[in-house]
Amino acid sequence: MPANTVTDSESDDEPEHESALETARRQLREAATHVDVDPGVIERLKHPTRVVEVAVPLKRDDGSVEVFTGYRAQHDDVRGPYKGGLRYHPDVSSQECVGLAMWMTWKCAVMDIPYGGAKGGIIVNPKELSTDEKERLTRRFAEEIRDEVGPNQDIPAPDMGTDAKTMAWFMDAYSMQEGETIPGVVTGKPPVIGGSYGREEAPGRSVAIIAREAIDYYDNDIRDTTVAIQGYGSVGANAARLLDEWGADVVAVSDVNGGIYDTSGLDTQSVPSHKEEPEGVMSQEAPNTVTNEELLELDVDVLIPAAIGNVITIDNADDIKADIVVEGANGPTTSGADSILDERDIPVVPDILANAGGVTVSYFEWLQDINRRKWSKERVQNELESEIMSAWDNVKAEVEASDTSWRDAAYIVALNRIGAAKEARGLWP
Ligand code: GLU
Repeated sequence: MPANTVTDSESDDEPEHESALETARRQLREAATHVDVDPGVIERLKHPTRVVEVAVPLKRDDGSVEVFTGYRAQHDDVRGPYKGGLRYHPDVSSQECVGLAMWMTWKCAVMDIPYGGAKGGIIVNPKELSTDEKERLTRRFAEEIRDEVGPNQDIPAPDMGTDAKTMAWFMDAYSMQEGETIPGVVTGKPPVIGGSYGREEAPGRSVAIIAREAIDYYDNDIRDTTVAIQGYGSVGANAARLLDEWGADVVAVSDVNGGIYDTSGLDTQSVPSHKEEPEGVMSQEAPNTVTNEELLELDVDVLIPAAIGNVITIDNADDIKADIVVEGANGPTTSGADSILDERDIPVVPDILANAGGVTVSYFEWLQDINRRKWSKERVQNELESEIMSAWDNVKAEVEASDTSWRDAAYIVALNRIGAAKEARGLWP
């Protein structure tokens, strides 16, 4: 079913498997009750501007041809060009891209950066492709969605299953067709071709900053805090190492195969991140191992789900023992689980604030590309810290003023900014 025709079910019962689009729409519906934004604008925001579906043929290394399906969902661009990642994963779908694109719209608005929201991807398991095949697939995908993207139109970035190398191929394919080098068409590139220093660690850095602030907000000392992190890729590993450096005890981390647990704290530097050694977490010596499900239910101060979506659901929300949840992944908590955690007084600091460091440094990268002027890593880190702190302060002020959850507060900040932009621009014609 095309994303545009998805019915906006008003039911509040959480289905067994809630899609990203269903979660995003339920969150929007809930947040809309707290804001004074024109209902017509809210209605518009339930729908993407467009979803492009393309066939992406790939010549495999053995000479056979396989055709994959790719998408680019563009949700809203009232505040600036569409922005968001490209995901290579077997579970990619048109609806998932729309839900994730909606979250990008809110994320950019919470951060007050001049972008709208988009997301795209290919239904493919990248682990089953050689590097050459990934390159050919990416170049062909870039060609198929060439009319939709551009530095002033829609700017892709890395997401699950894609990385700086993927962005380099995408940028090269696009630039070759345009006849000029256009680094600003994607962000998250290697620094040598216009990427920003500090972009790769940025989502993890913002998760760590937000966790640090949340720990302080709830009157805890980071040096007496235990943290469990699901996922040890770019988000999880960077967040873990920074929190460790700042004095927290990171007691459990995991990858797709399961996790390691040490109540006296792990040495996060010696646990290999996904980039250093894919699926290497379990190879580390530790007193205990846990499954990914068990990790979520550990009795820790802070839980950071930083792997995939929909891991905290109505089935395990009652068993979460952490005092604070900070969302590192996009959409790790279903809306039913959100309500349960809310009733249990467990604050959930949402993805659209916590992991927004990625798109924020993407914005810095885009500025550097347009100006053909590189920033130092130190400047990137300082500006990221100040942008994240200002978004944190805005959301915190809303939590205190409206007595809402952190998610609703972040949505209120975002929706007010989007609503004001829609009102100023008006509906055309
Ligand atoms: N994929 C990342 C996210 O979900 C980054 C998007 C971007 O930098 O455009 O926030």
